[in-house]
Amino acid sequence: MAASQLHVALAGNPNCGKTTLFNLITGANGYVGNWPGVTVEKKEAKLTSDKSVTITDLPGIYSLSPYSPEEVVARDYIMSDEPDVVIQVLDATNLERNLYLALQVVETGKPVVVALNMADLVEKNGDKIDTKRLSKALGAPVVMISALKNTGIDELFAKAREAAAKKAEVPEHKFDSAIEDVLDHIENCLPQSVPVNKRRYYAVKLFERDAQAVKLVNLNKEQADRVEQLVSQCEKDCDDDSESIITGERYAVIAHIIDECLKKAPEKMSISEKIDRVVTNRWLGLPIFVLVMWAVYYIAIGTIGTAGTDWVNDNLFGDGFTLFGASFPSVPGLFEGWLTAAGASDLVISLVNDGIVAGVGAVLGFIPQMFVLFILLSFLEDCGYMARVAFVMDRVFRRFGLSGKSFIPMLVSTGCGVPGVLSTKTIENEKDRRMTVMTTTFIPCGAKLPIIALLMGALIGNNDASWISPLFYFLGVVAVIVSGIMLKKTKLFAGRPTPFVMELPAYHMPSIRSWALHVWERVSAYIKKAFTIIFASTIVIWFLSNFGVFEGAFGFLPDLTDADEFMDYSVLAMLGSALSWIFAPLGFASWQAVAMSISGLVAKENVMATAASLLSMSDATEADPELWHAFAQQMFFNHGGTVGAIAAFGAFNLLCAPCFAAMGTIRAQMNSGKWTAIALGYECGFAWVIGLMINQFYLLSQGVFSIWTIVAVAFAAAILFQLFRPMPKGAMGEDDNEVAPSVSAA
Ligand code: GDP
Ligand code: MG
Repeated sequence: MAASQLHVALAGNPNCGKTTLFNLITGANGYVGNWPGVTVEKKEAKLTSDKSVTITDLPGIYSLSPYSPEEVVARDYIMSDEPDVVIQVLDATNLERNLYLALQVVETGKPVVVALNMADLVEKNGDKIDTKRLSKALGAPVVMISALKNTGIDELFAKAREAAAKKAEVPEHKFDSAIEDVLDHIENCLPQSVPVNKRRYYAVKLFERDAQAVKLVNLNKEQADRVEQLVSQCEKDCDDDSESIITGERYAVIAHIIDECLKKAPEKMSISEKIDRVVTNRWLGLPIFVLVMWAVYYIAIGTIGTAGTDWVNDNLFGDGFTLFGASFPSVPGLFEGWLTAAGASDLVISLVNDGIVAGVGAVLGFIPQMFVLFILLSFLEDCGYMARVAFVMDRVFRRFGLSGKSFIPMLVSTGCGVPGVLSTKTIENEKDRRMTVMTTTFIPCGAKLPIIALLMGALIGNNDASWISPLFYFLGVVAVIVSGIMLKKTKLFAGRPTPFVMELPAYHMPSIRSWALHVWERVSAYIKKAFTIIFASTIVIWFLSNFGVFEGAFGFLPDLTDADEFMDYSVLAMLGSALSWIFAPLGFASWQAVAMSISGLVAKENVMATAASLLSMSDATEADPELWHAFAQQMFFNHGGTVGAIAAFGAFNLLCAPCFAAMGTIRAQMNSGKWTAIALGYECGFAWVIGLMINQFYLLSQGVFSIWTIVAVAFAAAILFQLFRPMPKGAMGEDDNEVAPSVSAA
């Protein structure tokens, strides 16, 4: 006998395995379209084993409320006459969470069969589910299945046919008797047209004041008033709104069911939890984080990344290279060849090679290092480690009245300050948010890497000193913390930190696709900048440094003088010298160092690009002691600077106001000119003071003493005072109860 037509709807929470089940039983070849009027996907197909059965995959939802198109689509379909039976799929490893929807689907009065999916995992975990009791509690057949392992499917459909034949079901579970009384009264108000099996569903919906259901039931004025009176009386009695009352009742029923039907195996600690015991440990968490970040910077800037960068600089921008037996000229060689052949003047060749190719090339040379850095950072983010760090940092931050929420923007800022500043949006407390906007760009972003590499070269004669680069990262972190502590004790920022709650996802291997995307997003933004803003800046810097006044005449300096140091007469030299008094106490008064710092306000890569075009050295990242010696000599030592001055230069450039793009974002985020000025002013001031202290204390250690030593000591004393004085009374707000950070593992 040919079976009659049967329509089955698959309902369930997201990720309960509906799609896996659908594909298993239908072979996935059916109709895919949209539900009418909404962009929610509708999938429909025939059962492979029995073409008389049509399966409709409903969208994954958590509740049958009318708050999203998915929920409306799912409940309209379940309530319609089309499906004969609903297969309610539950993730049986997550029974509690999945029962919330299951209860509601059962309440619709439709024939329902409950499929407890992931039976294989339940067995593996050693949990025991009493399906007989569960079936009784729900008033619906329950079948254990595994969509992945293809078990229990035949029984499921046998039960589905049986249930469909019975047509109406009335749910078994009951709420608190007081609520049931009210629901009974509401049921009595319903018009006769509402069929027996749907009466309870509509009573509950009317109780919840679900607008859509109210419209469908179409009560007359008298009935509507009566219902409203019943509901408001009940709300008064329970001191809660009607929707919350029902939610509470459902959870009470679920708690009871779980108690009766589920025997969890004694908790075994998952691998994630075991790792977390170490990684988020009160004492080990922070040192582990320091070690991890040190390794990241060591690998990216110290070892592997440098090898890549050296190759690019030695070959592409150095002597040319051979590949597969063919030899290629270097990029500057290539341009010089073309330009000479075209009969270009010295001026044009200089602009192209010393200006653009040197500047843009120096920036591009860092791509291998950036690439390695971002691969490592993206991995740490995607696998779930960085979420742990936010939690570990919250413990540190909280001691100083800061919130761990401020750490997320800092994290993002290791890529770029612009999204970093944008991500402060999630901090609700306005003072905390402003403070985070002000301090988050202290963290070295990708564009500051070249500065770090440059300094390493200048400081130690080659850029192999891999231990220095992680230090600059931690300089940024310390700057954020120190600033946070100091600012929190001022009236502008006082207040209790935002409580920090975060769900820690289990550790997992990131998908290669999202990982690659993450890395590419960051690297491509860097490349784009090299060819736009850096490109334009190198041209400006080249003009400013190659044109100037020599013996009363203005013009292209190499034409005016044979002197090697012709740039000393340039416009840039004049501008730099005019501002050099600001930086003299920091030890880097050379016009070159000043020009580099100023150009860095446009984009941080410019510090490097400017150095490269001032020295006409495109191979500025190379581990060539002679080159670095010349650089340090020309920029610092010839102008009375010392090693302390080089370090001060680095600290200033890493901590001062960020690039134009980030400044614009700060302006947008602060939404106030005054606050933007405070932020940029604080950053520059803080950077200057740190630079001053580094230089002066280094000089002091060499026995050099001046009025600036006293200023530096005064600043240091002021900072220490602000750091260690107790929190002013009332600064943390009225209620001084400790708000403990909370964390939940998912
Ligand atoms: P949907 O969101 O309800 O469509 O869920 P999916 O069908 O996409 O399944 C979510 C995840 O659960 C996928 O990774 C599936 O491989 C997995 N899954 C589904 N059914 C089972 C099962 O019976 N056992 C196990 N171990 N995993 C399953
Ligand atoms: Mg799905």
